[in-house]
Parts: sequence; C-alpha cells; structure tokens
Amino acid sequence: MRVVITGAAGFLGSHLTDRFLADGHTVVGVDNLVTGHPDNIAHLMGEPRFSFIRHDVSTFTYVPGDVDGVLHFASPASPIDYLELPIQTLKVGSLGTHNALGLAKAKGARFLIASTSEVYGDPLEHPQRESYWGNVNPVGPRGVYDEAKRFAEAMTMAYHTYHGLDTRIVRIFNTYGPRMRPRDGRVVSNFIVQALNHEPITIYGKGNQTRSFCYVADEIEGIYRLFMNGDHQPTNIGNPTEYTVTQLAQAVVELTGSPVPIEHRELPQDDPRLRQPDITRARAMLGWEPAIDLREGLARTIAFFRGLVGTSRMAPRTPRPGGISGA
Ligand code: NAD
Ligand code: UDP
Repeated sequence: MRVVITGAAGFLGSHLTDRFLADGHTVVGVDNLVTGHPDNIAHLMGEPRFSFIRHDVSTFTYVPGDVDGVLHFASPASPIDYLELPIQTLKVGSLGTHNALGLAKAKGARFLIASTSEVYGDPLEHPQRESYWGNVNPVGPRGVYDEAKRFAEAMTMAYHTYHGLDTRIVRIFNTYGPRMRPRDGRVVSNFIVQALNHEPITIYGKGNQTRSFCYVADEIEGIYRLFMNGDHQPTNIGNPTEYTVTQLAQAVVELTGSPVPIEHRELPQDDPRLRQPDITRARAMLGWEPAIDLREGLARTIAFFRGLVGTSRMAPRTPRPGGISGA
C-alpha cells in the first residue's frame, strides 16, 4: 500500500510510519512541524519508500500519485500545546480533517482519524465504552481539542455514510514512549524529564485522578490492526490498567533512581478525574490487547530521555509568543 500519514514527524505519527515501512508499505509523511520534531524521522532520510512533505494540512492538501490509505494524525495533542494553539487545534481537527477526507475520497483510499479518549470529556461512565457519548465542556479550555475531535469523528462518519468512504475512527487513550517531546507538558514526559533533571515532580491537584497509560508499541499495533482489519465504528485503543497520577510519580522516582521531591500545583480546569478504556471491542474484532506493562514501558521511555539529558531539548519550555502557557 501507499499511505499518507499526516503528523508523521510527531510522536505517534513517526512510530506509525515505521510500522507501515516495516511491513513493506510506502509512506508519504505530511507535517508542518508545529509540535513535531525532525529527529523523529531523521532515521528515515534515504529510505526510498518514505517521502516527506512539509505542509499545513488545514490548507488544501494535495499528494501526487496513487494513494491507498490516509491516516490523519496531525494535531497538537498535549494539553499545554493545544492551550497555546487553540485556533490551530480547532482548524486541524475540522478543516484539516476535511482536507484529509477529501484527499482520501479523491484517491479512493481508506481513511483513519486519530481521535481521542477526550471525546468522553470528564466521564460519567467508567470505564468508558465506545457507546458512551461523553461529558465535554465546549467552552472550557479543553473544548478546542475535544470539540475538534468530536467534529472530526462526525465528519468522518458523514463521509462514510454519504460518500461510502471506507473509514476508521480510533479513540486513543494516554500513550507514552520514546520520541515524546521532552517538554510537551504531558504527565509521563514531565515526570521523567523532571526526575532526570533533578527538578521537583509537579503533581496537579491531589494526584488521585487516574489515567490508563499505553506503551507506544502496543498502541501502534492496535491502530495498525484497526486500519487493516477493523470497521467504521469508533474503537478504543488503550491500556485498561488504571493508575493514579501519584502512583505514576512514585514509579518514575523509583525507576529513575532520582529521589526528587513532589510539589503539588493547582489542578487545571476541567481536568478529567478518571479515565480507563473498555477494550472489549478491540479484543473481539482485532484480537488485540496491550502486552507491555507500565514498569517495562517506563523503563524503555526513561532510557530514551536519558539519551537527551544535557541537550537543548531538555531545557525548560519557552511559551509560544501570544500563547498562554499551561504550566
Ligand atoms: P505530536 O504533537 O507529537 O504529533 C502531532 C504532529 O502533527 C506533529 O508532528 C505536528 O507538527 C503535526 N501537526 C499539527 N498540526 C498540523 C497541521 N496543521 N499540519 C500538519 N501537521 C500538523 O502528538 P501525538 O501524541 O503524536 O498525537 C498524534 C495524534 O494522536 C493527534 O491527532 C492526537 O490528537 C492523537 N492522540 C494522541 C494521544 C497520545 O496519548 N499521544 C492520545 C489521544 C489522541
Ligand atoms: N499532570 C500532573 N503533573 C504534570 C502534568 C500532568 O499531575 O506535570 C496530570 C494532569 O493534571 C492530568 C494527568 O496528569 O490529570 C494527565 O495529564 P496529561 O497532560 O498527560 O494528559 P490528559 O490525560 O489530561 O490529556
């Protein structure tokens, strides 16, 4: 297959690119590098089955030649990133999704949208099944991301029902691993970078809120199987083992061997209190479930971040001009 992956220079997009290339496919990566990094795809330069187009997919997007699949991963994804880039986030989820769908339709290609557990908002059903409609504040700070993704799902379903496009919707739950941006503000990268830099670990609120962390290799395998063998209904892909944020902090301190103190900060507005995927659908349809537990996944991720210690990528975050910083 020849597939287009938007957001290919990002954390998940670059791993997904590797997965397609490993199976003998050809990948055209499209990315404007707003939150991605060239290091994530540097190992692919010189690979004849990979090409890269630097482009903002919120504007008209054209890729020459035959295309069999379009996987739309472009979007700021960490809360701090999308708080700093609210309009770009809304645009890439709406206009960007429309352009990526239009490309798939023009080429007769299969389409997959990277949706999120954030469509469930601060959930009133736990764990979250795909049938749950969610509890989202459209005008709260997270609304720019959550509502863009909800619109993206609706648009994808409309292309399926109205145009007969072959589509997939994956709801991704908190995923971590090598190639996360050190200062992207997400909890796993924050805690590891803080521990390795001998800075205090910042727990927002009491730390009793929960997340269910999926190691990137497991997440990518689930997404790949959904693209190849799934159907058009939304599908949760995530690790159902749930941890509190405090438990995560304790695991990071232990595995890094850095006895840094814990500092409590204010809990951000509308921060979901609980999150855990029900993966019954993915298990039955795809024969998929995660294989790598939190300690193993964290050890691999810590090894990656250790390789960046002392480089400019580990330096404190500088807020984008005009943006608000979430931390
Ligand atoms: P990331 O920030 O590492 O990657 C996103 C990539 O998209 C970056 O390379 C960025 O430069 C690119 N991009 C953003 N806007 C663009 C635009 N307008 N045009 C072209 N490129 C653009 O984030 P990630 O964690 O790899 O997330 C990838 C996708 O998966 C996102 O759509 C995100 O919403 C979704 N997702 C991720 C997670 C997770 O835990 N990592 C959870 C749920 C959903
Ligand atoms: N969090 C934290 N300290 C940090 C970063 C995040 O306690 O330095 C918390 C955050 O408030 C949330 C959870 O960790 O409850 C996960 O945050 P993240 O930004 O990784 O993603 P979310 O799941 O909220 O989109």
